[in-house]
Amino acid sequence: MSNTLLKVSGLKVSYGGIKAVKGIDLEVQEGELISLIGSNGAGKTTTMKAITGSLQFEGGDIAYLGQNIQGQGAWDLVRQGLAMVPEGRGVFTRMSITENLLMGAYVRSDKAEIDLDVERMFGIFPRLKERKDQLAGTMSGGEQQMLAMARALMSRPKLLLLDEPSMGLSPIMVDKVFEVVQDVKAQNVTILLVEQNAQRALQIADRGYVMDSGEITMTGTGKELLVDPRVREAYLGH
Ligand code: ATP
Repeated sequence: MSNTLLKVSGLKVSYGGIKAVKGIDLEVQEGELISLIGSNGAGKTTTMKAITGSLQFEGGDIAYLGQNIQGQGAWDLVRQGLAMVPEGRGVFTRMSITENLLMGAYVRSDKAEIDLDVERMFGIFPRLKERKDQLAGTMSGGEQQMLAMARALMSRPKLLLLDEPSMGLSPIMVDKVFEVVQDVKAQNVTILLVEQNAQRALQIADRGYVMDSGEITMTGTGKELLVDPRVREAYLGH
């Protein structure tokens, strides 16, 4: 039996009069990598923010591990294993790489284990190890993305939300980011990935959702969506 980690039902979010999310349903089972794709302004980031408790929603339900999360703050959710890497990464630029990683473990008190996890992150992200004492602000965009992911993993999440991790990166770093997302999945972390790079996001996804103008317009396995003529035309450019 699969275990539902996240269940979004009829979610509605507005900014003043603008209806950004219009009653969407979405589910993430334990162990899955789910990609949410769609063009600019479709409502993907708004959906992510509602899930992580950083945005009030006006209608519907969001259940994490079977419990309604409305009203819970982002910190409470992190403590329960729901971590997010926001669009634009949000690393602490004036702190070192190591300090950033330790900040990611703020909900934990198991010091010895935390130190082991820092070493584990250096194993997954060798580039961060080479630069561990440098200020995060001196790193490239791709390196900061790696750091943001590693920092989120330091909370030992069950469910990791990634918002546009490939945005603004060079093609080589984009490859690296998608590789790392797969590595993270292999470490038994369930992932909800928001991406404008539909091709890459669907290639690695177990299942995907297509969002357009605040609605989910299509859903299926990553493979099904990749070959769907409507997806190909609207999001893959052929
Ligand atoms: P992007 O890839 O650009 O992040 P997205 O699919 O994540 O796009 P959202 O950022 O969720 O889309 O935006 C959905 C809609 O809500 C858009 O029409 C956007 O202009 C609007 N919107 C987003 N944030 C705000 C805000 N703070 N105030 C008003 N409107 C907003």
